[in-house]
Amino acid sequence: MAMNRIQFQPGLSLPEFLRDYGTEAQCELALESARWPEGFHCPRCNRTAHCVVRDGVRKVLQCTACRHQASLIAGTLFQGTKLPLTTWFLAIYLLSQAKTGLSALALKRQLGVSYPTAWLLHHKLMQAMAAREERYVLDGKVQVDDAYLGGERTGGKAGRGSENKVPFVAAVSLTADDRPLRVRLSPVPGFTLTAIAAWAQDYLAPGSTVFSDGLACFGAVTEAGCTHQPTVMAGRKPKDVPEFRWINTIVGNLKTSLSGCYHAFAFRKYATRYLAAFSYRFNRRFDLRTLHQRLLIAAACTTPQPLRSIRLADVHC
Ligand SMILES: [Zn+2]
Repeated sequence: MAMNRIQFQPGLSLPEFLRDYGTEAQCELALESARWPEGFHCPRCNRTAHCVVRDGVRKVLQCTACRHQASLIAGTLFQGTKLPLTTWFLAIYLLSQAKTGLSALALKRQLGVSYPTAWLLHHKLMQAMAAREERYVLDGKVQVDDAYLGGERTGGKAGRGSENKVPFVAAVSLTADDRPLRVRLSPVPGFTLTAIAAWAQDYLAPGSTVFSDGLACFGAVTEAGCTHQPTVMAGRKPKDVPEFRWINTIVGNLKTSLSGCYHAFAFRKYATRYLAAFSYRFNRRFDLRTLHQRLLIAAACTTPQPLRSIRLADVHC
């Protein structure tokens, strides 16, 4: 059997992780260098000389010149947490190494915390992933498809137009030799010309060529300066059409991942975050060994996310 170089790449083993991040002091140092990769700079006077003081158990860096105190976790995703950093780091490790994602219930068991704590930690980290994903647009050759999260109600209609589903645009950009490059999964209010024009303005670079199965709304990508290439399916299944091979594989993997690890979640409320978490992993699939470091940097760069904002519903749905 041929080895898949993505699936068989070495990740970071648990013993390696515990060797590098097993203590609070190790985690503090890692967070400090994620926040200040060039070394500490005072946020008030920009000088570098500092000493370390403690606010309870938390590390605080005090500027020697102006005596400004910068808490290690203030202003980051970790702000306000009562958990040790070792718990957060273990969650980051587990989430970054789990190929198909991890449920809050699994996190609760692995971390030894309550379910509400695991849920909040999970959603905060998914929010950091989503913030990172927002920075990218797709360009070049892009396959798109209309897809849905959630199952239809009993007796509901199947497919397009069915009830109780969250519509989202699945899109993947391809390399020159037609390998998948980046994926973007975006909830939309519906598959209308207006919604797709707005989606294309936000997430496609002008000049991209968009391949679709001819659903009329995708013609609106031309409003964002893109070219639309509809393909007539003529009774063929999407998997038999080269223009849709990758987007179908990715949507298939997404659905397997969601049904395998999240038995139920509020699709309507949290679709963006779950889709972004899948995309985040997919878009960094070649780099499993350093994914935890990248997620740590994302968390250090994400502004605090209080429970109230985490529980806010997606604006799209
Ligand atoms: Zn200062």
